[in-house]
Amino acid sequence: MDIVSKEKRSEMMSRIRGKDTVPEKQIRSLLHQQGYRFRVHVKHLPGKPDIVLPKYRTVVLVHGCFWHRHSGCKFAYQPKSRKEFWQKKFQDNIERDKREQKALQSLGWKVIVIWECELEDLKKIVNKIARLLR
Ligand SMILES: [Zn+2]
Repeated sequence: MDIVSKEKRSEMMSRIRGKDTVPEKQIRSLLHQQGYRFRVHVKHLPGKPDIVLPKYRTVVLVHGCFWHRHSGCKFAYQPKSRKEFWQKKFQDNIERDKREQKALQSLGWKVIVIWECELEDLKKIVNKIARLLR
């Protein structure tokens, strides 16, 4: 039997997507260590991006693999129950991501997406960011 009601569960789930997730914090401290100056939760930009590097006119988005459907990733698994519910949710997320990234790009911002699973290799992320900011 489910102890947690459906409403409660979706509330908990939505909180996971909230501000200041662990991966996001890790990326921030990583950028900080590398000496990058950045701003967080920039409200005036499309999608209120988590991490913004004004000097490079670049936005860093930290995406959870499950919510943002990292293609081919082990974390982007399909939940076995309530298939339609999840399908719809995933589709919405993917479309929102696309829309936000396009909006940012059309304003002249470069978008770097860091996937949650990439946090397993921080050095790789450092290299990726350095390469893309060049
Ligand atoms: Zn992934």
